[in-house]
Amino acid sequence: MEINRADSKDKAKHGRAGVSRRTFIKLSGLAGAAVTASYAFRKYALAATPTSESPGSEFPQVEGVVSEQLIPTSCLNCATRCATRVRVTNGRAVKITGNPLSQVSEGENCARAHVGLQVLYDPGRFTLPLKRTNPVKGRDIDPGWTAIPWEQALDEVSERLKTLRDSGQPHRLVVFHGLNTTSGEDVIQRFATAYGTPNVISDAGFDNEADKSGQWLADGNYTQSAYDLPRTNYILAFGASILESYKPLARSLRMWGKIRRERPNRAKVVVIDPRYSVTALRSDQWLPINPGTEGALAMAIASVIISENLYDIGYIENWTYGFDEYKALALDIKYSPESVAAVTGIPTDTIRQLAREFAQTKPAIAWRGRGATSWPNGSYTSYAIFCLNALVGSIDVPGGVIYQENPPYRSMPDVTEDDIARAGKAQPIIDLRKTARFPAAEVVSNQAADSILEGKPYPIEIAIGINSNFNMLAPGADRWDRALATVPYYVHIAPFPGEMAEFADIILPACTFMEEWGYDHSPPGSGFAEVRIKQPVVAPLYGTKSVANITFELARRQEGTIAQSFTGIGNDAEGFVQYRTSSLAPWEEFRKQGVWVGPAYEYYKYGRIFLTPTKKFEFRSGNLQTLLLRAGQSTGGVATLPHYEEPEFLGDPVNYPLALLPYQPLMSVENGSQNYPWAQEMFLVMHGQGWNNFAELNRHTARDLGIRDGDAVWVESPYGKIRAKARVFEGLHPGVVAIATGQGHYAYGQWQTGIGINPNEIIGTDYDSLSGQAVFFNTRVRVYRA
Ligand code: SF4
Repeated sequence: MEINRADSKDKAKHGRAGVSRRTFIKLSGLAGAAVTASYAFRKYALAATPTSESPGSEFPQVEGVVSEQLIPTSCLNCATRCATRVRVTNGRAVKITGNPLSQVSEGENCARAHVGLQVLYDPGRFTLPLKRTNPVKGRDIDPGWTAIPWEQALDEVSERLKTLRDSGQPHRLVVFHGLNTTSGEDVIQRFATAYGTPNVISDAGFDNEADKSGQWLADGNYTQSAYDLPRTNYILAFGASILESYKPLARSLRMWGKIRRERPNRAKVVVIDPRYSVTALRSDQWLPINPGTEGALAMAIASVIISENLYDIGYIENWTYGFDEYKALALDIKYSPESVAAVTGIPTDTIRQLAREFAQTKPAIAWRGRGATSWPNGSYTSYAIFCLNALVGSIDVPGGVIYQENPPYRSMPDVTEDDIARAGKAQPIIDLRKTARFPAAEVVSNQAADSILEGKPYPIEIAIGINSNFNMLAPGADRWDRALATVPYYVHIAPFPGEMAEFADIILPACTFMEEWGYDHSPPGSGFAEVRIKQPVVAPLYGTKSVANITFELARRQEGTIAQSFTGIGNDAEGFVQYRTSSLAPWEEFRKQGVWVGPAYEYYKYGRIFLTPTKKFEFRSGNLQTLLLRAGQSTGGVATLPHYEEPEFLGDPVNYPLALLPYQPLMSVENGSQNYPWAQEMFLVMHGQGWNNFAELNRHTARDLGIRDGDAVWVESPYGKIRAKARVFEGLHPGVVAIATGQGHYAYGQWQTGIGINPNEIIGTDYDSLSGQAVFFNTRVRVYRA
């Protein structure tokens, strides 16, 4: 595989209806300063409306403001789903700000929020249902789309679903979903349950499943950890890109200001990461660790804390299990600071310094992220890092790990299931979760492609992708191309084109989050619960429909128990939101405020937070022991203890001496598209550059390879090679080459296609052995001048 896009960016930047950097800054400033002035309004509209054919031209361009509203809704440019308010002038959305009633983000949002305007007015959006006329499917093959009416599209999809179900094979339907509203996910799951398929595959397996399983091993909660950021005094961030991509992002950004600037005792932050990230830039200490060795460092820190009696004896004695075995393991010579310094590249004195600071600067947090856990040893690394919090008593205390409260949405009546649904749901799930292959997994997104290709455990007849773009997200992307080409009937539901849409037999054009009804909450982070509304700030453009409304309509057409399951919960997306949030606040008040905030967080709930056999925090995992025994696997040795396993790399170190480090930058919008000039303009804030991504190299590495800044280079792995522009950069471990993800689209979108490269194209397929998390960081590459 060869992908050559080194020069494409500059061409794109200068060869299109370009919003130059200078113009962009000027327009943004104008928009922020005076949206009520008609002059500013026209300028701002220009920035959001790049061509005369775009949706914006349908709106009246009046001289002077005749109407203006501020509508509470929420953002969906990442899973944080922040509460926002959208200023709508003359029927056109012109500005997005945070909702000051939100206590999660305290009225703030991130730079990506503003891109919502260009999500809404994206000139490349689908406008009508499309039907494929070319039966041949593949990358760069024209599907031969022809527009069809909504009724025809929904009838066709419904008929295919009915035929499959009537044959007694509902499990041969698979539903893929990417970033959706919380309410959208609820109706998707409800439809799948009523229909009778167990195969609902989210994109979470590309994200942070190993993080979640690490906490589950310790305390039984399979969840992303939540940290009491505003009250902490010390953070050890292991591969956690807290200020770029970790969710809830806007909350972290806001609370960072509090702990670093707005109180007398400024919290100390140490970032452990081979890459000098935005988080590292804003920290006190950056430690460029050898890639994949974070678990060893965590165990060495434990070793020092234990050997110097710095651990919280009261907490350990009262609320933990298995400490003696963990202690014996941590004190093994393998985890002495001297041994681990040789593994990690972090000096012995620094390891001791970190351990002492972490134990003595209370409250402290050991925070893990994908950089540390998206490895074949990910769950054990995650477990080892998470255990540091228990060691110093930072569990459910102010400034420590906290346990997220979920909103008390009004419950739904049980799904009505018939015999076909029950039999379908009893079939094995195609992603192999909870099998001997992935015993602790909740979802193994990337495995689904191989299962479809192999027809195991059974062939898939229909796939539905909802706001998903796995072909871009997945390592080994060509497997997804082939898998989708194999599925006899693929339905794609999304607002805009993308790589996955290329393989569809039919496209149902969804509206964007600025045009739909929904309810949302953030991933764990605040502790207390908060719900935000999504309400249309403008009517759906082109007659597009929300995911929830499409699902309601399909359910009605299926009739029988499926249609029954969608009665009594509101008749459509708006009614459903009204139904589910009726337990929170009166409807009109919720619409007006846009936010519902739950009770203040309660700490020290030790009697109910540990979902383990011992009802304690477990340094030896009873939950894992049960699963391994069930799978017929060994539970001896360190199998159920936190520990370090040397990661296996893909590619031999002689021919491929560098580790590839794909990372998500702040301006990578998470909806599967990157067709947004504003996001493109400042795509790489750390480099002050946009409209591209680079092969980033340490200065010494580049010198040894004879590569200069700006050179065209090949980045080659055992799985293919991509051509990029080199960026010589001090802030990188010399043993890695870093490439930002989000670019390298090849399917439609005038502001995204042909821009930069997608590092996932050359990453091998591998998994964390317990959680099934797709591994992104263990592929070796070589870099040479093109
Ligand atoms: S953090 Fe995510 S949801 Fe919040 S404003 Fe930024 S992109 Fe939108």
